[in-house]
Amino acid sequence: MATDREYYDVMGVPRGASQDDIKKAYRELVKKYHPDLHKDDPQAPRNMSDVNEAYDTLSDPAKRQQYDAYGKAGPTGFPGAGQAWAPQGGGSGQTFGGFDIGDLFGSFMGGFGRQQSEETPHGRDLSVSMTLTLGQAVFGVKEEIQVRRYDTCVTCHGTGAASGTSPKACPTCNGRGEVRQVQDTIFGRVVTAGVCPTCRGEGRVIESPCPACKGSGVTKADKTIEVTIPAGVDSGMKVRIAGQGDAGKHGGQSGDLYLFITVEHDSRFERQGSSLYHTVRVSPAKAVLGTTLSVPLVEGGTETVTIPAGSQHGTEVRIRGKGAQTVGERRRGDYIVRIEIGVPKTLTTEQRKLYKQLADIEK
Ligand SMILES: [Zn+2]
Ligand SMILES: [Zn+2]
Repeated sequence: MATDREYYDVMGVPRGASQDDIKKAYRELVKKYHPDLHKDDPQAPRNMSDVNEAYDTLSDPAKRQQYDAYGKAGPTGFPGAGQAWAPQGGGSGQTFGGFDIGDLFGSFMGGFGRQQSEETPHGRDLSVSMTLTLGQAVFGVKEEIQVRRYDTCVTCHGTGAASGTSPKACPTCNGRGEVRQVQDTIFGRVVTAGVCPTCRGEGRVIESPCPACKGSGVTKADKTIEVTIPAGVDSGMKVRIAGQGDAGKHGGQSGDLYLFITVEHDSRFERQGSSLYHTVRVSPAKAVLGTTLSVPLVEGGTETVTIPAGSQHGTEVRIRGKGAQTVGERRRGDYIVRIEIGVPKTLTTEQRKLYKQLADIEK
């Protein structure tokens, strides 16, 4: 994908331009076309590639001399420059035009192209599904659960160093985790800072790794943990248990454990937020005259409820404070008994006689 434009045109400099002028032009063109700085411009990679190709030749006195004399084809098929530049990987370690992009931009673009920390010693968060009965969800519960997670290595106590040894301050960065480099570039002297490549920012190195954890300081283990579920949880909620996820490497902070809650269906109750509903069927006569019934409670046992005379189909009787709960609230919601009137499909002889009398009176 070599450019077919003249290199001097690409660089925007006259044929007699000095090396300093070419460098200066190059710096301006990099700012103008670098694909990482102009992500919205589809032409940027192509333009940058042309600039790169032109600069590769014009910045090299020998190549430039050949180019001036013979043009691009050259007498022997030179030049070799002209690879397309693809905007990938953030630039670190790639070179073009003879400069490392990380060096080039780290200096004057305020940290552009700087290496990110690859390894954080912070442990990962874990998640576990938990199924509760309605009663456990309403009142909260303490449960023991099994979790397979990374735990601090018992052999090296998390240091990652073999028995009898200990981690040492990283010789590359003197334990700081960061390296500063002073470089002379075409832009003058610049200082770049980056994560130390030897210790990856941890500031320590392990010379003889612990064989149990291979130096990481953590090993997989099955753990039994007692967790406390607060009163009032419902299906779809997650409960965070701080610090019970994977242990961090080399004594880093542990992740958290998340419990994803499912509440089993209880055919006696229907839950709506902090309210619990229960449906009873009463006969027409009892609905007309009123009655007392016993209804089940979510905490176990029963409660007597009065169905008032003249109750209609769908009438609700409310029992305060015997319903479910909302997390963080101390009071329970209400227990609501819904009344359905059950019209009998078969009658005894006596019932039929009485219903007939009733019907006759209603005439
Ligand atoms: Zn270990
Ligand atoms: Zn280091």
